Order: sequence, then structure tokens, then C-alpha cells
Amino acid sequence: MIARKLDGQALAETIRGEIAPQVAAFQTRYGRPPGLAIVLVGDNPASEVYVRGKLKSGRAVGFRADLERLPATASLEDLLGLVARLNLNTDIDGILVQAPLPKGLGPDAETRVFDAIAPEKDVDGFTPGNVGRLVQGRPSLVPCTPLGVIELLTREHIAVAGKRACVIGRSDIVGKPMALLLMQRDATVTICHSKTVDLPAVSREADIVVAAIGKPGLVTKEFVKPGATVIDVGMNKVTDPEVAASLFAEGHPRLAKFRENGSVLVGDVHPEVADVAGALTPVPGGVGPMTIAMLMTNTLRAAKARAAGGHVPAGR
Ligand code: NAP
Repeated sequence: MIARKLDGQALAETIRGEIAPQVAAFQTRYGRPPGLAIVLVGDNPASEVYVRGKLKSGRAVGFRADLERLPATASLEDLLGLVARLNLNTDIDGILVQAPLPKGLGPDAETRVFDAIAPEKDVDGFTPGNVGRLVQGRPSLVPCTPLGVIELLTREHIAVAGKRACVIGRSDIVGKPMALLLMQRDATVTICHSKTVDLPAVSREADIVVAAIGKPGLVTKEFVKPGATVIDVGMNKVTDPEVAASLFAEGHPRLAKFRENGSVLVGDVHPEVADVAGALTPVPGGVGPMTIAMLMTNTLRAAKARAAGGHVPAGR
């Protein structure tokens, strides 16, 4: 079996095409575009790339998309002050603080900064209020990556209700909200992590496997029931020739690209899984673009809710 490719890139473009006219209508009605502020502290190269993509996407749909930069030497107080100003800025509907924050800000910096974002502007869905509302199944701003996975499954007509789902990874930003969203859509969900015993056997039970681990190619054929849907959230930059060679056979164009560039972006799912799975998201071009599309969706929802003076309406 060669798995059907779940093209997140194409879907994300479709979604942006749906959002743009709504943004134009918002501008006409309220005399301003929805506003997104992205806060970037320091100069982490991967974060620079992600932030650039988010700003570009925001501007493409017609948002005001501001980059708010702070140097790596900024203090936690500087950052909290910036977030407080953005909370009060009436032209800004969505605030995203790009993680990871520089280590120098301290071990609890991310928690403190995410906690400080006004819940109605929390387009990443990380604030405790929005997380709590998600747990209770109440309308909220939902983390973009798991929301993007649900959107992808829905638009690709992959049934979730009654299916067995295995989420590998239990982080606050991906694994946990992913499991909740699948459960709310009536899947029977198993959450796995680094202490799970016989992970391949547990995963093999599932009709839908979501890998959010951060380990290149960890999910091999042994993890996948024939015909299962496999969603690869992982985004790993491989620079080790041995790892690259363990993922791509000699002659594979991506191995050639690795040798050319010295690195290659891969997921948590081994390419061999395409021989077993029924459907599979590629990396790049799967969950990543859907995550950015959901940031656009969340920002528009936040803008509409703020402009109407009400609560954020129910999303997917
Ligand atoms: P994280 O916070 O590091 O969490 C990783 C999870 O994987 C943890 O729950 C960990 O278990 C589990 N894990 C680690 N090694 C394992 C193993 N050998 N077997 C089973 N489980 C294992 O990572 P994250 O932020 O959720 O991100 C996961 C991946 O998704 C990364 O590659 C990241 O770059 C990518 N990502 C992509 C997007 C996107 O837009 N595509 C967005 C966010 C993240 P423990 O809890 O037991 O430690």
C-alpha cells in the first residue's frame, strides 16, 4: 500500500482563500483589519523562519501583522511589559509569543508570559483559561497545531467518531490538546509518551496515529496498522549523516538534498510508513502549513469576537 498524501500545504491555501474575503468584510465593517502581533525574543534561527512564515501568511490574508522584536538580552520584565501593552492595544486582536524563549529569561518564563496574555487575544490557545475551557468542551481559542490536525482530518473526510486514536506525545501545546479534541469528536483515545511500554503494539491498535514526539523517524512500520491514518506533527532538522541514511535509501532525492545542504527537515514518522498507512501527512507540507492556517482562523475569530464585544464563538 502506498499511503494517500494528506496535502496540508494545498489545504492551507484553500483556507487562506476562504479567510481573505472575511478579512475584507471585517475591514469594511470596522474600519480596520484584524491585527496580529508576533513577539520574537532573541535570534533563534528556527524561530525566525517560523515567525516570517506567520507574518507573511497574515499579511497575505489582509491582516495587520506586526513583528515585535526584543533582543536576547531583554529581561522578563521587558517582555511582560510588551505583552501588557499589546493586551491594551485596541488594534491588536491576537498575540503570539514565539517559543522557545531564550534560556536567560529563566525556567518559568514561558509560563509567566503565556499567563500574561489576555485570554481573548490568546490566538495560540495556551493561557490557562483557554486550556480549561478546552478541557470542559466550551468555546475557546484552541492551540493551532492540534486544531490544524482536526481541520485536516475533517476536510479529508477521515472519520474520527468511534475510531481508535493514538496520540504519541503529551506536551501542553500538541499532545494533550490533540487528545482532547479527538476525544471530543468521539474517538477512543490513547495517549502515549516516553514511559509507554511496548509503544509499537499500542500504536498498532489505532486507526489514527498522531506522532508529536520530536524524534526523527521514530514511528516505523511496526507502529502502524495497515490502512491507518498517520499524522506526522514532528519537525526535526537532521544534520547527522547516519540519521539521514537511516531514513532515506541511497538514491532518494531527499538524501541527495541532505548531502547538498548538510541538513534535512523530517518528521517523527519514518518514510517507510507510506508503505503501510492508508493516509499520511508529509513533512514538510503537512501539519506545518495547517498550523499557520489555524493561526489565521484563530486571529479572525478573536477579532470578530472582540469587535462584537462578545465571547469567542465555538470553533471546530
Ligand atoms: P515536547 O514538548 O518535547 O514533547 C514531546 C513528547 O514526546 C513528550 O510527551 C515525550 O514524552 C514524548 N516522547 C519523547 N520521546 C519519546 C519516545 N521515545 N517514545 C514515546 N514518546 C516520546 O514536543 P512538542 O512541542 O509536543 O513537539 C513535538 C514535535 O512536534 C517536535 O518535533 C516539534 O518540532 C513538532 N511541532 C510541530 C509543529 C507544527 O506546526 N508542525 C508545532 C509544534 C510542534 P514525556 O512526556 O514522557 O517526556
